Amino acid sequence: MVSVTAPERPPVPELFAGVVGQAPAVATLRAAARHPVHAYLFLGTDGAGARPAAQAFGAALLCPTGGCGQCATCRRALGGSHPDLVVVERTGAALGIDDARRLALLAQRRPFEANRQVLVVTDVHLAIRSAPALLKTIEEPPPATVFVLLCETVPAELVTIASRCVEVRFPPIAATVIEGWLVERGVHPDRAHMVADGCGGDLDRARLLAEDEGFVARHELWRSVPGRLTGDGSTAASVVRELLDAAESAVSPLRDQHALEMAEREAESESLRERTVPGRRDIVDRQHREERRWRTDEIRAGLGVLSRAYRDRLSHVLASGDPGDEIERCRRATDAITAAAASLERNPNESLMLESLMLRLSPAP
Ligand SMILES: [Zn+2]
Repeated sequence: MVSVTAPERPPVPELFAGVVGQAPAVATLRAAARHPVHAYLFLGTDGAGARPAAQAFGAALLCPTGGCGQCATCRRALGGSHPDLVVVERTGAALGIDDARRLALLAQRRPFEANRQVLVVTDVHLAIRSAPALLKTIEEPPPATVFVLLCETVPAELVTIASRCVEVRFPPIAATVIEGWLVERGVHPDRAHMVADGCGGDLDRARLLAEDEGFVARHELWRSVPGRLTGDGSTAASVVRELLDAAESAVSPLRDQHALEMAEREAESESLRERTVPGRRDIVDRQHREERRWRTDEIRAGLGVLSRAYRDRLSHVLASGDPGDEIERCRRATDAITAAAASLERNPNESLMLESLMLRLSPAP
């Protein structure tokens, strides 16, 4: 037998160290940095890596050697202090006409130091009304500007914009990757497994859940549902109440983070002798929107846990050798849960949605 030494794997490039579990996207971007086109659309959530990837890609585009990760240019770009890497955030609830105008002006600017500038535009999926203005800016690219548009989805209004960009996808990160990432950071393996299971492939969510004391109890609550449903409506209703209370309590770490953010803004305004925090209303609206989304994500993650509980139950009865009608029951249950999770996109009344699901999951009285 001949033993062959595996070739040493090249070290992970420092520049993209903040992008976890997205090797194809990182490979695409490293190649693209050598001969960039004028506009990229990163499709996926910030927590799946779109945002840190934009920062790293920006650094690669500005670095004199194409993204060494070590030089002053790379370090400043990664740290958010390079004048030629500008992150354009929306000022209102959506990316509005004013934001699009600001972007058009920025795009015409000459780079300060590098031979190009990179404009990263966040929340482009919210640019419904400003889409025509945005399209105009992107279609008439000034030679020294590269756009990176961050987009969670591509609504119909943005299809034309998307077609003008090179698309780079950031799908949800694999649960096993997140699990390993958490363990490396000292999270207990059992907990890491559970968090990876419930974070929907989102590293930002995984970070918060790993520190969230109530997380294990909520996970157990969803897993306990199949054993608790008896077939009577009042049991189903009380299970639903518990699930909704749990989802509500899941939002509190995010609320604490938001309160801290507002306190920092207030302190900053005070130090500048401003009477109020500029754009306070918009900040509060954004925070509320994020909190609503967090709650929906929590319910979606819970439905995933519930679905796995039925699948585990199925493998258990199959192993016991006498599945009876349990196979059909588990199959119907997972179908109903999948349909309920899909309906979350349409902003249903969560309480009614869960109640009808629980009745479908209940055994016949
Ligand atoms: Zn560099």
